[in-house]
Amino acid sequence: MGRLLEVDNLEIKFALRFGDLTAINGVSFTLDKGERLGLVGESGAGKSVTGFAIINLISKPGYISGGRILFQGRDLTKMSYEGVRQIRGDRISMIFQDPMMTLNPVLTVGTQMIETLLAHRNMTVRDAEAVSIEKLKKVQISSPEQRLKQYPHEFSGGMRQRIVIAIALLTGPELIIADEPTTALDVTIQAEIMDLLLGLCESENMGLILITHDLAVVSQVTEKIAVMYAGKIVESGPTERIINDPLHPYTRGLINALPEVAEPGTRLNQIPGMMPTLTSIPKGCSFHPRCDYRLDVCETEDPEFIYLENNKRRVSCHYWKNK
Ligand code: SF4
Repeated sequence: MGRLLEVDNLEIKFALRFGDLTAINGVSFTLDKGERLGLVGESGAGKSVTGFAIINLISKPGYISGGRILFQGRDLTKMSYEGVRQIRGDRISMIFQDPMMTLNPVLTVGTQMIETLLAHRNMTVRDAEAVSIEKLKKVQISSPEQRLKQYPHEFSGGMRQRIVIAIALLTGPELIIADEPTTALDVTIQAEIMDLLLGLCESENMGLILITHDLAVVSQVTEKIAVMYAGKIVESGPTERIINDPLHPYTRGLINALPEVAEPGTRLNQIPGMMPTLTSIPKGCSFHPRCDYRLDVCETEDPEFIYLENNKRRVSCHYWKNK
């Protein structure tokens, strides 16, 4: 397979007036070529910041304060801004929740696709147009020659996200980072877009980091999951194992909160309490104020990882250490 990405002990801080606050604390994971990982957690867990860090898109006052991000063996944290910019949009593409974060409303789809290609490839406009048409076909947009002449507002939300995926595919990237790519769409369209993304990752052998709060989506698309809470990974492993046998109390809470798990006609089992903000991360295990399994030690000591199932799984929780 070959290693595509290795995020090793990543630390991200935010420089604020009263001092630097740690937003991402020791996050590590790997992705092999063509592999699909789900980064899961509630809003504020640090998923998007982690994804943005890979392509050097952390906005100030955030900055990478430690760790390494090895993409095909090269440490992106040591590269110049220009060096990472060349990799971004070429070897790594990003898909955002809102297609209009990618699309320029005053330019035709064709102009945007061709300009993207010309920024990364030495080719003629005619060839760039031919590649753009081919990619629009791949995302199942009919009459692509005509569609190139249209503006983003002439497409529905689902079609716009297809165009964003086509733009992401233009340079034949090895890795796609998709941040809540279907959250803004109707439920039926969501399933179509996820099916499309999955099919393309398989056919083009692209790696995928899917950032989402939705474990149901992750279970359909990814091969492994890393669950994040308050800037850390608290559990990771093969998707099928985590969905069917979650270990960390937070992962269990997320799965119990799925509509599919609730008895028909009953309320959803929401996890009580809220994700802490950067300024209010509790001592010890940061999940302890919300945890039904809490032990005394949880309030004072941050749990280390325990490795299970031939090191394919890991969970950071005192409950499992003491079992
Ligand atoms: Fe709950 Fe303690 Fe495990 Fe944290 S370490 S998840 S508080 S049991």
